[in-house]
Amino acid sequence: MNCPYTWKSLLEPIINVTAVDLDETDVNILKVLQVNGRLSFRQISERVKVSVPTVSSKISSMENMGIIRGYQTDLDSERMGELSVVLTVKAKPSELKSVADRFQADEHVRKLFTLSNGRLLMICTFSGSHLINDFVGRLGDVPEIIEYDIANIINVIKEQQRALVEQNMIVVLQCSFCKKEIRDDPFKFKADGRDYYLCCQTCLKSFQEKYDKVKGKT
Ligand SMILES: [Zn+2]
Repeated sequence: MNCPYTWKSLLEPIINVTAVDLDETDVNILKVLQVNGRLSFRQISERVKVSVPTVSSKISSMENMGIIRGYQTDLDSERMGELSVVLTVKAKPSELKSVADRFQADEHVRKLFTLSNGRLLMICTFSGSHLINDFVGRLGDVPEIIEYDIANIINVIKEQQRALVEQNMIVVLQCSFCKKEIRDDPFKFKADGRDYYLCCQTCLKSFQEKYDKVKGKT
């Protein structure tokens, strides 16, 4: 199965990154998967009107490129009796990263973003209101935090995945070995009809060795 991706250099605001165009079939597969990640390759092939091998090869290529991060179960937090809060935290720009690092591993912090206005945005979920108080208490113990703003979510009007799947999408390539964004022309490795993109000669070599090892075992 041939993968039709061709890469190109994309000038991002700050750095040069390497990107590929997704074709219409890719986009249609993503749309179907975004609604239901449990469909079989056959069910997807029927919906997007391409063959099963095409679906399989396109999905694995998009997994390798890091576009498809995984397949999760969408749970209803409210039905589970949980409480969520939206929190914005202000810190000195130089200390924003270290504040983020402190909260990153906390299981109550479900989403964590750094914003362009020098704040962190967190969405946190708790099983009871006393736990919210504990959490807020811990915020007060972090000297780098200048101020914060917290509000309880009282009604969920809309909650979707952030990725918006549209036609004519351009996707930044990720190295199949080191997982970093690829900044130059990628090294392409083809195996079993799948395309893997690597950022440099070293990653290519390491990936090939790892691949051969895994293949040798099976
Ligand atoms: Zn790499």
